[in-house]
Amino acid sequence: MRIVAPSARILAVEDGRDILGRLEFAGRICYKSEDKISKDSAAPFLDRIVRSGHLSVIEHASAAAHIVCDRGVSHELVRHRLASFSQESTRYADYSGKRFGREITVIRPCFWPEGSPAYMLWLDAVQRAETAYFALRDAGAAAQQARAVLPNSLKTELVVSCNMREWRHIFELRCAPAAHPQMREIMLPLLRDMHRRVPTLFADLHTAFTRDMPETAPACAAAACALSPKQEDLPCGTAAVH
Ligand SMILES: Cc1cc2nc3c(=O)[nH]c(=O)nc-3n(C[C@H](O)[C@H](O)[C@H](O)COP(=O)(O)OP(=O)(O)OC[C@H]3O[C@@H](n4cnc5c(N)ncnc54)[C@H](O)[C@@H]3O)c2cc1C
Repeated sequence: MRIVAPSARILAVEDGRDILGRLEFAGRICYKSEDKISKDSAAPFLDRIVRSGHLSVIEHASAAAHIVCDRGVSHELVRHRLASFSQESTRYADYSGKRFGREITVIRPCFWPEGSPAYMLWLDAVQRAETAYFALRDAGAAAQQARAVLPNSLKTELVVSCNMREWRHIFELRCAPAAHPQMREIMLPLLRDMHRRVPTLFADLHTAFTRDMPETAPACAAAACALSPKQEDLPCGTAAVH
């Protein structure tokens, strides 16, 4: 069994200046103020558009991201109905095959320090799940049947595409302290990258969440936590798991 870290990277986004030019044009159509377009007019115009909540304008640009996370986090991500998804399938990926080295891959939970009692319990559980998966395959179960015993921690990959308005919505919900710590673990760095590429569209969100971003403080504190934490004890202020 392989234990890996999650990750998220922007796969495709047009050049920031191209995006801003197109969005400014779309926005200025509303006010018939295209004559005010100049070399430096896009950023301040779009800053005002975002601050005023006139967000349909920024739907004219999109970005795609490649996300590696566990099945629990992916289950939450695919609730975002305005995004498009392509996801690794546990029906067609046969982890007992040579291509997967006859092992499953799991995402290490960010909230349990390696070697802690909770971490060891988790490790035992995912190893047992792997053993059961291969026993079922050896007994003749198809991959799509054996997957019934695969854990929430199973690594999965997705390509997520949506427009910038929806990305803002996703970051607002998924970078917030109420989001699951493993969701924040991937979304905070992704927001930082998106802001680096198109600062005007993400400046307010970046400012709001900067102090939670990995360089300043880990999205998910690796502090030891109880095996059965009460809601208020959950790391990073987690309120719920979806
Ligand atoms: C902290 C947290 C806890 C959560 N807990 C739970 C839980 O316990 N159980 C659970 O089932 N889910 C839970 N969720 C998931 C949540 O209910 C949403 O399904 C998920 O966050 C997607 O958000 P959304 O619907 O706003 O966004 P999207 O699906 O991305 O839609 C974007 C926006 O488009 C609009 N929109 C989209 N579809 C419709 C529609 N059909 N009708 C009207 N407007 C629409 C809305 O304005 C929406 O905000 C939780 C989410 C968070 C962040």
